[in-house]
Amino acid sequence: MRATADVVVIGGGVMGCSILFNLARLGITNTVLLEKDILNGGSTGRSQSICRMHYSNPVTATMAWESLGVFTHFEEIIGGPSGFTETGYLVVVNEQDRPGLEHNVAMQYALGIDTMTVTAADLSDIAPMVSVAEGEVMAWEPQSGYADPYLVTSSYANRARELGAEICLGLESTGIEVDGGRVRAVNTPQGRIETAAAVVAAGPWSKGELAKVGVDVPLVTVRHQVASLARPVDRLPLHPAVGDIAQSFSFRPDGPRMTLMGFGDDEEADVETYNQLAGMDDLNAAKGKLARRIPAMSNAYFRGGWAGLFTTTPDWHPVLDAAPGVDGLYCAIGFSGHGFKLSPMIGLTMAEMIAQGAASSIDISPLRFSRFEEGDLLESSYGYRVLA
Ligand SMILES: Cc1cc2nc3c(=O)[nH]c(=O)nc-3n(C[C@H](O)[C@H](O)[C@H](O)COP(=O)(O)OP(=O)(O)OC[C@H]3O[C@@H](n4cnc5c(N)ncnc54)[C@H](O)[C@@H]3O)c2cc1C
Repeated sequence: MRATADVVVIGGGVMGCSILFNLARLGITNTVLLEKDILNGGSTGRSQSICRMHYSNPVTATMAWESLGVFTHFEEIIGGPSGFTETGYLVVVNEQDRPGLEHNVAMQYALGIDTMTVTAADLSDIAPMVSVAEGEVMAWEPQSGYADPYLVTSSYANRARELGAEICLGLESTGIEVDGGRVRAVNTPQGRIETAAAVVAAGPWSKGELAKVGVDVPLVTVRHQVASLARPVDRLPLHPAVGDIAQSFSFRPDGPRMTLMGFGDDEEADVETYNQLAGMDDLNAAKGKLARRIPAMSNAYFRGGWAGLFTTTPDWHPVLDAAPGVDGLYCAIGFSGHGFKLSPMIGLTMAEMIAQGAASSIDISPLRFSRFEEGDLLESSYGYRVLA
C-alpha cells in the first residue's frame, strides 16, 4: 500500500470507483481506494440499476442524461463493459400526479432529453404488454434501460488501476486524520496514508465515517427490496423498464428471461443489522401489482430476492461537495435509490471539484452541503420519493 497519495477514496462502490477513474482521466493517478470488503459489497451490488431520465429537477435530469451518453459508449470511453441494455422506460402515475409528470417532461424536453407523454393508445406500439387503467397518465423514454452494476464498477476499477491508481480490497479506513482544519492522512489497520485529500464515498456507512471527524450529515438508511422473477418468455419475451408511481414499485427486464422488481415500504434500517432478505408478504403484494400492470407476469415465478439500503438525505438527493470545516475532505453521499444511473457524471464532477477546485461539466451547486441548513431543499413532483 502506498504511504502517500494525492487523493484517498473511501469506498469501493460505483461512486468511489467512478471518482477514482475520473481522477485518473484528469491526470491524478497517485491515488488509493480503500474498500473494507469487496467491490460492490454495499448498495451498488444490490441495485436494480435502472437508468431513467425522469426527474423533477434539472440537475439530476441533466446528470442522468449525460450519464446515459457514457453508458451507451462505455466500452469506448472507459475501456470495459457496462452491460447497458436499452429497453425504454415508462413512467405511470395517477391522475392526481398529472401536473407533476407534465412538469417533469416539459423540463426534460427543454434540456434536450428524449422523452414524451404518451396515451393508452400509444402503448399498443411501444409497450403492448402493459395495461393501464382509466385516469393513469404516462411518460415514455425510448433510450433508457438498465446496466450491470458489477460490470460498471469493475470496469471503472480496472481502468483506474491501469492508469496508475491503487485499489486495496479488504482494507478499511479506520479514520481520517485532521490537523489544523486540514486532512493530513487516512488511517488503516495496515498503516497510515499521508494525503491532503480524502473522499467519503462509503454509501450507507458515510454518516459514521464523517461523524469520526466531527462532520454531521442528516443521512438515514432505509431498506428496499428486490425480487428476481422468471418471465413466461413464450408469451412475454420482453417488456420495458417501468417506474410505476401509481402503485409505488418498479421493474425492469434482467436479460432475456428474468425480470427484477423493486418494492417495499422503505422503512428505516440499521446498516449493520438490517434484514438482507426479501419478505414474502411484501413480495406477494408486489407480485399482485406486477400482474395488474403486465397481466402476462401473473404466472412469473420467484427465483430469489434480497434487500439493500438506500442512504437518504432530507430531500432524497445526494450531497456532492467539500465537507464544511475540513479542508481537503470531500463527500459523494446520500444517493438514496437513484444514484447508480448518475454515477458517470458524479465521478466526473467530483473529480473536477478535487482536481480543479470546482465542477465544470454540470452545475452541481443545488447538491451543496449547506442546502439543509439554508432550507433550500430540492423538491420532487411526487410523493414516491425515490423518483426524486
Ligand atoms: C435495492 C436497491 C435498488 C436500487 N435501484 C436503483 C436503480 O434502479 N437505479 C439507480 O440509479 N440507483 C438505484 N439504487 C441506488 C444505487 O444503487 C446507489 O445509489 C449506489 O449504488 C450507491 O453507490 P455508492 O458507491 O455510493 O455506495 P455503496 O455501493 O454502498 O459503496 C460504499 C462502499 O464503501 C465501503 N465502505 C464503507 N465504509 C468503509 C470504510 N470505512 N473503509 C473502506 N470502505 C468502506 C463499503 O464496503 C461499500 O462497498 C438502488 C439501491 C438499492 C439498495
